[in-house]
Amino acid sequence: FPGDFSKNPIQRTTPKVLFSTIDPVGFDNPELIIFNDKLSEEIGLGNFDEQDLNFLAGNHLPEHIKTYATAYAGHQFGNWAGQLGDGRAILAGEIINETGKKTEIQWKGAGATPYSRHADGRAVLRSSVREYLMSEAMYHLGIPTTRGLSLCFTGEQVVRDMMYSGNPQEEKGAVVIRTAESFLRFGHFELISAQKEIDLLQKLTDFTIENYFPEIISEGNQKYKDFFSTVCTRTADLMVEWFRVGFVHGVMNTDNMSVLGLTIDYGPFSMMDEYNLNFTPNTTDLPGRRYAFGKQGQISQWNLWQLANALFPLIKDEKFLEETLNIYGTYFWEAHDKMLCNKFGFDNLLESDEEFFTNWQNMMQELQLDYTLFFNLLEKRDQSLDTLSAFETISYTVLNDQKVKTLEKLLTAYDLRLEKNSFSKFDSLKLMQKTNPKFILRNYLLFECIQEINTGKKEMLKKLTRALENPYEEIFPEFSKKRPADYDDISGCSML
Ligand code: AMP
Ligand code: MG
Ligand code: MG
Repeated sequence: FPGDFSKNPIQRTTPKVLFSTIDPVGFDNPELIIFNDKLSEEIGLGNFDEQDLNFLAGNHLPEHIKTYATAYAGHQFGNWAGQLGDGRAILAGEIINETGKKTEIQWKGAGATPYSRHADGRAVLRSSVREYLMSEAMYHLGIPTTRGLSLCFTGEQVVRDMMYSGNPQEEKGAVVIRTAESFLRFGHFELISAQKEIDLLQKLTDFTIENYFPEIISEGNQKYKDFFSTVCTRTADLMVEWFRVGFVHGVMNTDNMSVLGLTIDYGPFSMMDEYNLNFTPNTTDLPGRRYAFGKQGQISQWNLWQLANALFPLIKDEKFLEETLNIYGTYFWEAHDKMLCNKFGFDNLLESDEEFFTNWQNMMQELQLDYTLFFNLLEKRDQSLDTLSAFETISYTVLNDQKVKTLEKLLTAYDLRLEKNSFSKFDSLKLMQKTNPKFILRNYLLFECIQEINTGKKEMLKKLTRALENPYEEIFPEFSKKRPADYDDISGCSML
């Protein structure tokens, strides 16, 4: 089905399969912005050579490749949205490296598909840089994620209305190639279950387990139960990792939830600067703040409910599903508290820690302290002569006497708690250093980088790449500062 589906906005239904073949549109004057040599090597694609640009931009496809887009469904902002699908993503297929590891390769922004509805299937430089760099940053933080292989200008101009103001602007078009072990989402299972294609649901689930869940060795009905439990665990683990580094996804619709537990679909995401459980970078999620930072654990559980419903025809055991979702809650909070212990350098969770964590959260929000820099300062606590004034420099408000008192009280409680550790100060510090990043890819940094690339320069892109590849070191001190006053907490955030 070649052609441009944005001119023919019919949502294709695909009974008995989950995809439509579709060619990328291809761009005549592509220009490479960045190529991920290490990833290319790792997945078995090898070195970049000039002709590869044609492939990266979707112009030239090797003969054996049949490209396709997949259909999925989803719950968006809590409501059933019916059929959706890869509206601007096209799969080139899968590559297998020397060790047998499989990787799927996908263009994002290479033209409309039968699932684009009224949209153009294109991507702009802004959203493409954000996806490429943030997914790499997550990878190097040690967090499961899709990854960026390349980023190219398409040579096209694309029209976007970023603020939904009725005032659309032209922006430079771009295309990203991204990779993942699999791009399967909750929404794929929801679609075929809703269509009552139970044979296909079973086929897809068997395929998923066989390829991506080698740890599941049970059979029959138990196999599907183990599958659901494992997806719950992987999702909980991922949420805890997001909390650890302060990542806010922003659009946790079920079509943006990876069945493999990867961070997927980088849209209006943001790393959190000042600690705020209510923070959302998604301006279309106000005032409900469904996808705010502090809600990501519960929202995942809600999304897992939808997956449970989709898998019901295979599992057929309501009590099991309910119990498993309850276990998710317990598991998530235990893992979350353990993660906080690691951030603070505590050996084990003590009963009194719950209260300490609550006081800490309240203090962080009241004093508007920077999440990342707070832990970096805590690590230097022994060396700082004037700790209090150091903490003042990482606040986004003025710390009056009363606020300073709140801070002093918390730090005293912290010192007392450290003394209860069964391991040494040195071990505690080591634990903190490997848990707390020194570099996070803040929104304003992405914003400045995008502006620079737009003017044809790549200095900041190169620097940011180096910084995000080493997030537990401080390579560029200027990047380990709080957000400058000329930006607010969602400057440069965008979802389109
Ligand atoms: P998202 O909120 O990014 O997950 O997008 C929701 C749905 O809209 C997905 O099915 C996307 O594939 C589709 N979509 C988003 N942007 C575009 C675009 N520019 N062209 C076509 N489809 C799009
Ligand atoms: Mg999406
Ligand atoms: Mg998206």
